[in-house]
Amino acid sequence: MIEGVKQQKWWGWGEEGLAYRYEDKPKFPGFVQKMVGVDITRPVKPIPPFSSLDVPASELSDELRAKFVDAIGEKYVQTDDETRVVHAYGKGVRDLIRIRKGDLGRVPDVVLYPGTQEEVEAIVDASVEADAVLIPFGGGSNIVAALEAQPGETRQVISVNLGRMSKVLEIDETSGLAHIQAGVFGPDMEDQLNARGWTMGHHPDSFVWSTLGGWIATRSSGMQSDKYGDIADIVRGLTMVMPGQVLQLRPLPSSSSGPSVREMVLGSEGRLGVITSAWVNVHRIPEVRELQAYFFPTYEDGLKACEQIVSSDASVMMARVSDPIETQYIMANGKKSGRVSSLANKAIQKIMLQKGWDLEKIAMSFIGFEGSANHVRYEKGLVGKIVKDNGGMGVGKGPGTLYDQKKYDTPYIRDFMLDRGLICDVSETTTPWKYAAEIHAKIVDRFAKAMDDLGVRGVVFCHLSHSYHSGACQYFTFAIADDSDNQEATYDAAKRVIQQSFMDFHGTVSHHHGVGEEHSPWMDQDISPAGVFIQRKLFEGVDPGRNLNPGKII
Ligand code: FAD
Repeated sequence: MIEGVKQQKWWGWGEEGLAYRYEDKPKFPGFVQKMVGVDITRPVKPIPPFSSLDVPASELSDELRAKFVDAIGEKYVQTDDETRVVHAYGKGVRDLIRIRKGDLGRVPDVVLYPGTQEEVEAIVDASVEADAVLIPFGGGSNIVAALEAQPGETRQVISVNLGRMSKVLEIDETSGLAHIQAGVFGPDMEDQLNARGWTMGHHPDSFVWSTLGGWIATRSSGMQSDKYGDIADIVRGLTMVMPGQVLQLRPLPSSSSGPSVREMVLGSEGRLGVITSAWVNVHRIPEVRELQAYFFPTYEDGLKACEQIVSSDASVMMARVSDPIETQYIMANGKKSGRVSSLANKAIQKIMLQKGWDLEKIAMSFIGFEGSANHVRYEKGLVGKIVKDNGGMGVGKGPGTLYDQKKYDTPYIRDFMLDRGLICDVSETTTPWKYAAEIHAKIVDRFAKAMDDLGVRGVVFCHLSHSYHSGACQYFTFAIADDSDNQEATYDAAKRVIQQSFMDFHGTVSHHHGVGEEHSPWMDQDISPAGVFIQRKLFEGVDPGRNLNPGKII
């Protein structure tokens, strides 16, 4: 490991020593038992030690090593087994299944840690000259197989970790723009910006373990995108090192300079070059930040409310509504409440029953407000009325504050579940508002049928996570009880059903996780064969030797 560059554990999410705990959540074991018939309190098999893995030796040639050492210094040319294995995969559940059983794929031959743009240029040029494969690496958090070398790749595989390039270089306070190096992780970047009174406002669930370069390369979206925009809106200019040349895009609020090259880089997943820095929109830290919780009698009522909120004068920071199963999951995943909140919960339930709501169908919602105290008061008034018009009710900021504190711990639950034979992952899509309720219902139906066909128990639930003028992103989480050697095939079958349903019911292949190799088979259906043709020509033109992360996207 390189000092100052954090690295996730090889077998799961985040850092060693941090894990999900069910012991302080009395309702959670019962919820899992009811949904998928698994007892999560039973003892589990320990993770095998790293030494049990059979890691293929590095095939880095002496000649190329010498060039890298010359360019960035010996210390930053790493070939040890653990570093190479951590850089072999992302963090999709399929990656976790494979790595836990010692299926390591084509492990990179070397991991490089450049500290400057000039060093990146030297690495790219040397790699292409040697006809090696070069894969840029941010936090390694993607879940779409966007990082792994292709199976059987016979050329040398070079992973380039941008972690040493992590500085906020400049803030243009007049324009509200910041120039930031691409390898910075979310918390470090926000600390640097916050220290000067600014924020970028991009907070994906993976914030702690993902980087600015990774967000750009996957077209990421954060939970506050309703106010701050997706990364595609936030990034205004950038620098990207390509074979033999450097792309420089100045930060501009908008431009009419032909097809947008900025947009071509967004979502390029390392196929066009290595992004070394970007100019991004930044904002003054808001005076007030509040997350309010609401309940709706049904998910469909919640969807309607979100649709109306986005077209109202309330420019909320976030509007999220969970379907009934996810609502039950959130409630079961809460810590044991004290006497006062337990009484409050009972009082809320009583009101719901008096209103004639079916508690199995209710939908929980979090809506976020930011700005001056006056602005937040105004927005809350507008939202409160829309919620009421759609049959909902507010329950205050208590649950929202809890959600805000715990939001980055959630990813650890996937490792915990996999330890117990439960395959859990997510898939997300956007549709126009017109199809939002339909696609949700169809996916729930099709997933249930797929579970029957596979002969396993599984559950899928969903929340609306990002709203736009014309539609929204819905984010599906699934859990499947399968402790067999067949986990990968089970996962693939479930994922196929969900992705194909996205295509069949007016969705896109992905809203913010990108394509990688995972979603590649649906690209024809998503952007049409002509769209794939244009992308193919772009990648072939920039990278005729297929040296830059080949096989991703298309
Ligand atoms: P990596 O995983 O390291 O790389 C992803 C791709 O980008 C690869 O193709 C890589 O080659 C390329 N790349 C990385 N850096 C560069 C660079 N500097 N130049 C060129 N190419 C580069 N995503 C969201 O958008 N929103 C979420 O809320 C969200 N939540 C998640 C929750 C969990 C539990 C997990 C596991 C993932 C989640 N993701 C989310 C997905 C993931 O975090 C994003 O795709 C993220 O943008 C990846 O960033 P990274 O730095 O980890 O990139």
